[in-house]
Amino acid sequence: MARYTGPVCRLCRRERTKLFLKGERCYSLKCPVSEAVTDRHSRAYPPGEHGRDRMRQGSEYLTQLREKQKARRIYGLLEKQFRNLYEEANRESGITGESLLRMLEMRLDNVVFRAGWGASRRQARQFVRHGHVHVNGRRVDIPSYRVRKGDVVNLKEASRQMFAVRRNMDTLDRQRPPWLEAGDAGFAVEVLNPPLREHIDEPVQEQLIVELYSK
Ligand code: SF4
Repeated sequence: MARYTGPVCRLCRRERTKLFLKGERCYSLKCPVSEAVTDRHSRAYPPGEHGRDRMRQGSEYLTQLREKQKARRIYGLLEKQFRNLYEEANRESGITGESLLRMLEMRLDNVVFRAGWGASRRQARQFVRHGHVHVNGRRVDIPSYRVRKGDVVNLKEASRQMFAVRRNMDTLDRQRPPWLEAGDAGFAVEVLNPPLREHIDEPVQEQLIVELYSK
């Protein structure tokens, strides 16, 4: 499936917030939208020649659009994939925005990220694509694969010594969400339940996305 392969810090600058797309760098002073960076070096304004001119407050439509773009970029989906997921969430009973976020969270690449094996969803996606991840004992190399309650996701035995994995597990100190239970010395997670809205800590106002797509 296609994916965005351009510069990712540009996406954060466009949304004027940290989307944590790069792993370690996102927590350092090298992040161009870091609040800790002095004004002179900060690039917390939209990219492009007229980036600073685009700082103005926008319309209601623009606010909704930006919220959708932010969510899409956090989870690394292209527009068509994101729209399809929204349509599916819309067909479900319950609150559409919450269903959408739940589906995004239950993607296999996101589970690998939440488990602390990948420094970013991008890296987690690569681990999945390269066949390092098993679900219920079988190799699954589809990042969009949606896990279910009771699934056990683990890193392949031979992949546990990979430098990137060991370093991420030693240094990231990421809290696993309550809907995932760790096991096998941290190299496996079991999906206890689909996540509730309060378990999803991404700064997304899903209602704005629903309003945008419902127009
Ligand atoms: Fe780049 Fe990460 Fe900072 Fe975003 S949060 S601008 S991806 S370093």
